[in-house]
Amino acid sequence: MILKKNCDQKLINGKVYAESLTTQIKQDVINLQQISGITPGLAVILVGNDSASEVYVRNKTKQTHAVGMRSFMHLLPEKTTEEELVKLIKRLNQDTDIHGILVQLPLPKHLNTDTIIQAILPSKDVDGLTAYNTGKLSLGHQDGFVPCTPLGCMYLLQKEAPPLKGLHAVIIGASNLMGKPMAQILLNQNCTVSIAHIDTVHPELLARQADILIVATGCQGLVKGSWIKPGAIVIDVGIHRIETTNGKTKLIGDVVFDEAIAIASKITPVPGGVGPMTIACLLQNTLKAAKKMLN
Ligand code: NAD
Repeated sequence: MILKKNCDQKLINGKVYAESLTTQIKQDVINLQQISGITPGLAVILVGNDSASEVYVRNKTKQTHAVGMRSFMHLLPEKTTEEELVKLIKRLNQDTDIHGILVQLPLPKHLNTDTIIQAILPSKDVDGLTAYNTGKLSLGHQDGFVPCTPLGCMYLLQKEAPPLKGLHAVIIGASNLMGKPMAQILLNQNCTVSIAHIDTVHPELLARQADILIVATGCQGLVKGSWIKPGAIVIDVGIHRIETTNGKTKLIGDVVFDEAIAIASKITPVPGGVGPMTIACLLQNTLKAAKKMLN
C-alpha cells in the first residue's frame, strides 16, 4: 500500500496538465473571437492509410473542435504526388481561415518529407519543423514555433522539475521532430545537454549521468532501471502498442516502466504522460499563430 502511494507520487500526470492547458486555450479562443472575430483554424493533412496516424489525426480534430477552433482535414490517397501535396500546402498558405498547417508524419516513402515541410509558410508552421522556426529556436527567439512534443516535455519539466539551470539532461534519440529540438530547448535553459542516438556506443553510461533523462527512440523497452541515476526525472516519449496475454492490446514506452519508477524521482507514464501534452501544445501553437496573424 505504502509502496503504491510512493509510486503514485512519482507519476507526472500529463493528462491533468494537458486538460488544464486546453481549458486555458478554450478561454483564450473565446477572448480572441470577442476582440477580433477571428476563430483559429488548423489544417491537418494525412497522406495514405497508416492506422496509427489515422488515430492521431482523429484525436487532433476532436480536440481542435473541443477548444472552439476550426479544423480542416485533408485526407489524401497514398499515391498523392509531391507536386500535388505542395500545391495543396501553397493553397492553405494563402487561406486566411487557416492559421496552422500540420502534415502528419511519417509520409509515404515516395514523398520527400523535407520538401513538403519546407513548403509550409513559417507563420503557419505550428509543428515548428521548417528551417525558419528551427533557426529561431536555436537562436533562442521566443516568437517562432517549437515542435509540439518537445514543447510538451518542457512544459512538464517546468511544472515538475527543480530549476533546470546547470542540470545534466541526457536525450536518447536525435530526430528533427523530438531529440534535436528538445536539446535546443534545454540548452536555452542552461542545462548541460548530451544526446545519444543509434550509433552511440554504450548509451547507458551517458544515461546514468542524467539528472533529466528524455527517451525518444521508437525502441520499445530500451531503457532499463539500471540505466537510470537514482533520483533522476525520466520523460518517456516512446509509444508502442503491444498485445497482452489476454488477447487485448496496451500502450508502452521506450522505458521499462516498472524498473524505472523504483529508481527515478519522477516519471511520465505511457499512456497519460507526454502524449496528451503533444496535442495540447499543437493547439497552443495554433492559437499563437492566429494571434500573430492578427498583429
Ligand atoms: P525517429 O525514428 O525519427 O528517431 C529515433 C531516434 O532514436 C534516432 O535519432 C535514432 O538514432 C535513435 N535511436 C533509435 N534506436 C536507438 C537505440 N537503440 N539506441 C539509441 N538511440 C536510438 O523517431 P521520433 O519521431 O523521434 O519518435 C521516437 C518515439 O517517440 C517513437 O516511439 C514515436 O512513436 C514516439 N513519439 C511520441 C510522441 C508523443 O506525442 N508521445 C510524439 C512523437 C513521437
